[in-house]
Amino acid sequence: MRVVRQLEAGRLEAGEAAIPEPGPGELLIQVSACGICGSDLTSYKMGLFDGVPGHELAGVVESIGAGVEGWQRGQPVGIDPRLPCGECDQCRSGNLHRCVDSLTRRTVEPGGFAELVTAPLSVVRRLPRGLAPEIACLAEPLAVALHGIGQARLRPGEDAVVLGLGSIGMLAVAALKAAGAGRVYGVDPAEVRRGLATRLGADLVFESAQDARAGVEGTPVVLECSGRPESPGLAIDLAAQGGRVVLLGIPVAEITLVPVMWIIHEVSVTGCINSTADDYRQALRILAGEPGIGRIVTRRISLEEVPATFEALVRGSPADGKVVVDPRLPAGT
Ligand SMILES: [Zn+2]
Ligand SMILES: [Zn+2]
Repeated sequence: MRVVRQLEAGRLEAGEAAIPEPGPGELLIQVSACGICGSDLTSYKMGLFDGVPGHELAGVVESIGAGVEGWQRGQPVGIDPRLPCGECDQCRSGNLHRCVDSLTRRTVEPGGFAELVTAPLSVVRRLPRGLAPEIACLAEPLAVALHGIGQARLRPGEDAVVLGLGSIGMLAVAALKAAGAGRVYGVDPAEVRRGLATRLGADLVFESAQDARAGVEGTPVVLECSGRPESPGLAIDLAAQGGRVVLLGIPVAEITLVPVMWIIHEVSVTGCINSTADDYRQALRILAGEPGIGRIVTRRISLEEVPATFEALVRGSPADGKVVVDPRLPAGT
């Protein structure tokens, strides 16, 4: 079968691999769609993981391992890619999503950028009726956005700003609307992304945080999804008195901020990592009810196009929404 491997930092290669055998308690899944995640791009730039990347996937059951009952060939499935260790303090206290082991552990073999993968049943989810795997691959990033909204303790009718309209930011706009937020404002320098966010329900979009500050009174909730080092400070300045800022983007950098508004507005700032099994289930329900969220996918590419596409994305191709790999597409499409 065809796969894409990361060989070292900045080097991906399309090639062949043996078809994996589903072991006891596992399914073999034909991948219909696997999203390219910001964390895949970081790993590509920094050479964090070798092997086959890709964790935002959905597909159909191809074959069934020993002892597995209740699953059929051809059944559409999504992958909730978390395998918590079950032993660390966070796992034992029920915060499985914080398990450090699970953040780095491979959940499907060999990885989502492959024609076929094996997956243990614990990460496989049935898709709600009518939800195609081509859209269900968005459930993982949508679950991350939902986790951020949970961290913000959004109350129905509250306004919110989303800073940074990459895939998590765009999905956060859609998720805020689904969660009953009041007015939702999006901020991103790229026009394509502002347009997509508007179609997903953003009431008003701005090119910069400065423009948003000029146009909007502080909001009770601010979701920082850009990961840019200057953004935590901008997010705090956009929050209303008593507002809640949640940091979903991950700047690995020293930052400078002027804490005056943080203090006098009594703003709470919370980190946010990963998502829970409930977030993932809710994401599937939202996607089934609003398949139009699939609009954020602006390109579907073959495995062979992955290396050049990664290179373009790390250079910051502003023309793209979400890019999804479809391993069924033949080379050269
Ligand atoms: Zn992801
Ligand atoms: Zn653990």
